[in-house]
Amino acid sequence: MGRITLDKVTKSFGEVNVIPPLDLTINDGEFVVFVGPSGCGKSTLLRLIAGLEDVTSGQIRIDGKDATQQAPAQRGLAMVFQSYALYPHMSVRKNIAFPMKMAGVPEDEQKRRIDSAAAALNLTDYLDRRPGQLSGGQRQRVAIGRAIVREPSAFLFDEPLSNLDAALRVGMRLEIMELHKRLATTMIYVTHDQVEAMTMADKIVVLRAGNIEQVGSPLELYHTPRNEFVAGFIGSPK
Ligand code: ADP
Ligand code: MG
Repeated sequence: MGRITLDKVTKSFGEVNVIPPLDLTINDGEFVVFVGPSGCGKSTLLRLIAGLEDVTSGQIRIDGKDATQQAPAQRGLAMVFQSYALYPHMSVRKNIAFPMKMAGVPEDEQKRRIDSAAAALNLTDYLDRRPGQLSGGQRQRVAIGRAIVREPSAFLFDEPLSNLDAALRVGMRLEIMELHKRLATTMIYVTHDQVEAMTMADKIVVLRAGNIEQVGSPLELYHTPRNEFVAGFIGSPK
């Protein structure tokens, strides 16, 4: 589960075309990083996959099914934002439980999933606190926990670590990679940070002005960049 294909997907906002026709295949269990400068369309592309924006044309398939017209909740994906988007008045436990409550997951199953996510994310001792009583890294773990309990076929991360300081970012990167290994679920990770892309990805998608400049493993991009832009962005030797 977690195979996502984009077929001639485009997106315009009014007259402005942000994503020209774009084809992309994300395989089951892959860790794919979308990287590119600010404004190149990374978030838009992720939001199209999540269903938070409608495509202007083209088709999105998830696990073999046409998802183009599906509402976000029907797509079986979970998105994690940079801003965490936690409910400040709810405990960590309630924040994590919220999407399951909305989906009508039985209480005992909710508890099982919360305990399992909390153990995986080192949050067991913090379940009764509120987000305001947590560090930035812990808040981001709660946001990830809230995604895990939905048991999505893919996780979509939009610059999840950019509000954290540099030292914490390195630790969280490793945690997310561990999680990927353990869950073996597709992850799409958006960043403008080359180091993050090079260290985390199975496959990197380099974007410029909505166009895919190159798709490849970190090593492929480093050793055989297709053009100056990719070389410059990835930091290959000239
Ligand atoms: P990135 O995440 O790579 O920084 P975005 O996907 O946020 O880039 O934005 C890509 C382009 O689309 C930018 O030029 C941005 O101004 C434009 N854009 C994004 N969302 C909207 C919107 N809701 N309305 C109009 N333009 C938008
Ligand atoms: Mg963005």
